[in-house]
Amino acid sequence: MTLPRLEIDLGKIEHNAHTLVTRLARSGISVMGVTKAVLGDPEIAAVLLRSGVSGLGDSRIENIETMRRAGIRSEITLIRTPMLSQIDRVVRHADMSFNTELDVIAALSSAAQKSNKTHGVVLMVELGDLREGIMPGDMLKTVEATLAFPNIVFKGIGANLACLSGISPGKANMVALSDLADSIDAKFGPITDIVSGGNSANIEWALSGADTGRINNLRLGEAILFGCEALHRLPIDGLHQDAITLVAEVIETKIKPSLPWGNVAQNAFGEINHFSDRGPTSRAIVAIGRQDIDPTGISPPPGFEILGASSDHLVLDVSSGHVCVGDEIPFQINYSAFLRAMTSPFVEIGPSSNPRVLAATTL
Ligand SMILES: *Cc1c(COP(=O)(O)O)cnc(C)c1O
Repeated sequence: MTLPRLEIDLGKIEHNAHTLVTRLARSGISVMGVTKAVLGDPEIAAVLLRSGVSGLGDSRIENIETMRRAGIRSEITLIRTPMLSQIDRVVRHADMSFNTELDVIAALSSAAQKSNKTHGVVLMVELGDLREGIMPGDMLKTVEATLAFPNIVFKGIGANLACLSGISPGKANMVALSDLADSIDAKFGPITDIVSGGNSANIEWALSGADTGRINNLRLGEAILFGCEALHRLPIDGLHQDAITLVAEVIETKIKPSLPWGNVAQNAFGEINHFSDRGPTSRAIVAIGRQDIDPTGISPPPGFEILGASSDHLVLDVSSGHVCVGDEIPFQINYSAFLRAMTSPFVEIGPSSNPRVLAATTL
């Protein structure tokens, strides 16, 4: 079993996904399972599909191609507006994409005509988070233009909040999205099938019992993988928060003073650190670093403390436990550290089966 590695408990992920699908269905909301954080891992995609998601979504065409190569035939949506340089791949592998630019939709239309396919378009609306989206006042004319493109099918509208500016999804912006769906249908007939309200930051609103209006879809990644909503990172009732564990190996253990000596200047990352004297400390170095994880996004077992991290070394205070070179230390990991770990070629993904990890977990 290689180290460092991410241990992903597929049973817990299936439970989380299935629970969310069931609860949101009561408000008429389907779940698109978002696979970008797991780089389109086909095994996890299969688990999501088994849990009842209505389709898969990913922001990278490369991940979508990974899933297609693995034989996944269900509906997959590219949830970022396509790059012009990738249009042919998008039309070939994605059934649908999120769009905000008519130039891109024109290119999708040409590519779709050439390959004799149709491509679905969801138009993203700007609702105040100031990331992607068409300004609401420009929606009707953009829908009209979209409807005129051959081999393009207008599927609906969507919004994304709480990403760039941290604007919360709630009654006001969700009603605005619903109203927009109504005004599109009032003008062009009942053409707006999908009204995708947002991501894991929408969970609190969606499960609050509020009137969900025309919102009939959410795109969920973090809530499924980590069992929490994304506004306050509060655990969602009945979901597992520990489906994913990061495991890394100890390469040095020593008792050292807690104050560095010599002149203090910037460290390798341009930071100037401040230290407090806690006397001689039992320290362990774990072979993982900022190249693989965001050190602020991982938590060691109770009693251990992260003292700092450089590119390849994570230093822990392990005074309250007994740690040896070669030991495997399990860490809880959050979404941002997980994103980085998944894209590090040095971190493997593997199932949990090593007794030394279990021993470490009970430290
Ligand atoms: C990543 C992403 C999502 C999923 O976000 P989570 O917070 O992980 O649920 C949804 N929509 C878009 C457009 C995304 O890029």
